[in-house]
Amino acid sequence: MRWITVCGGGNGAHALVGTVLLRDQTTHIRLYLPLEDEQRRFANALSSDSSFEVRVAGEVYSVASDRIRVTGDPEEAARSSIIMMVVPAFAHGTILSQLAPYLSKGSTIAVLPARSGLEYQAQDILGRVGQDGCVVVGFQTLPWACRIEQFGHSAIIHGTKKKVGAACLPAKEMGEKAGVFSTLLDMDVIPYQSMLELSLANTGQLIHPGIMYSVFGERLGEVFPSENEVPLFYTSVDEVTVNVLSRMSDEILNIKKVAQERLSSFKMPGVVHLSQWLDGAYGEEILDTSSLAKQFQTNQGYQTFKVPVKKASDGYRVDVNTRYLTEDIPFGLLVTKGIASVVGVETPTIDNVIINTSVWIGKEYIVDGKLIGRDVMTTRAPQRYKIDSLEGLIE
Ligand code: NAD
Repeated sequence: MRWITVCGGGNGAHALVGTVLLRDQTTHIRLYLPLEDEQRRFANALSSDSSFEVRVAGEVYSVASDRIRVTGDPEEAARSSIIMMVVPAFAHGTILSQLAPYLSKGSTIAVLPARSGLEYQAQDILGRVGQDGCVVVGFQTLPWACRIEQFGHSAIIHGTKKKVGAACLPAKEMGEKAGVFSTLLDMDVIPYQSMLELSLANTGQLIHPGIMYSVFGERLGEVFPSENEVPLFYTSVDEVTVNVLSRMSDEILNIKKVAQERLSSFKMPGVVHLSQWLDGAYGEEILDTSSLAKQFQTNQGYQTFKVPVKKASDGYRVDVNTRYLTEDIPFGLLVTKGIASVVGVETPTIDNVIINTSVWIGKEYIVDGKLIGRDVMTTRAPQRYKIDSLEGLIE
């Protein structure tokens, strides 16, 4: 029998727990939930039912719920040699700091998805407690589009990516870890050469803030009278928005080009145009690949997701306090902007999206085109960690 720790109790964690337990009958899960209320609710749900279920494509798969042990004790959580964190990026630092003192040299910490700049934060937190011997594996995306069906009891997987990219700290471990996680997750894990490649290959940073800004920026005051009238998110993408998304993606490709020219042996093949990434990640789930707009509109994995809204007295309004901004700007686009500044590349479209959407969420990041706003130190931009050279980014 072996134990794997999963940190998180949300949609992704439900899907991960079910997937890992279904893959290997000898595995048990330590579910680390530091938030007391969530810990109590999960433990109660597990003890009230003998099974934990995953629903995929109409089929229900079930495992014994006593193979999951809920804990709020970081020392116990750190005992597993594999620890998988499935929480929003703004919780990575908190959880890493809680586990760090108890990790051991061989601990592997996988983060799904890593978003951007995980490498700087992980080195900072682990380095401070002398845990440099741990291996950190960052995943480019969550392998599934998934939701909790019944809390502590069942997950529903709406779509599974065909493959998922991953990078490792230290990079030399990636080959072995790709094998380990391909088996655990039952999917192709594509090894990236560096964490910098992973940070730039984060497509959530383009898709989420890009769509919020371009599709919904002019609809912030609009009232949707009923839930049925709340617009879909991804499939609302039109020609104007794909233009914005495509330009943002081109700016990241330019950072890659300049960085590769400066260091000829350094390559980032995982950093591709958004259109190519959608193709690779969703494959046949996209019914029409004739344009970037069609790739969004006909992606079967995207059909049910609506724009985040908040309840108002007269209906629903777009909620700007969404992770599409509060996660994907400070742990995504801001990191990219920081990398671009270090490499010396202009990113006008990305800057414009950051400047406009950061006002909506009450943050100040860019002033006079520079990353000197008062909230930069709450992001994972390399500047926060005093990294100011391409060599430093790669190290
Ligand atoms: P979720 O909101 O369902 O779960 C969040 C969980 O994170 C909470 O349940 C809690 O366990 C934990 N958490 C949050 N703040 C915490 C804190 N301060 N301290 C400790 N724990 C904390 O989110 P999710 O849908 O599981 O998403 C997880 C990540 O996966 C996010 O980065 C999200 O953007 C990404 N993602 C999700 C999907 C999806 O389909 N669910 C798809 C792609 C990417």
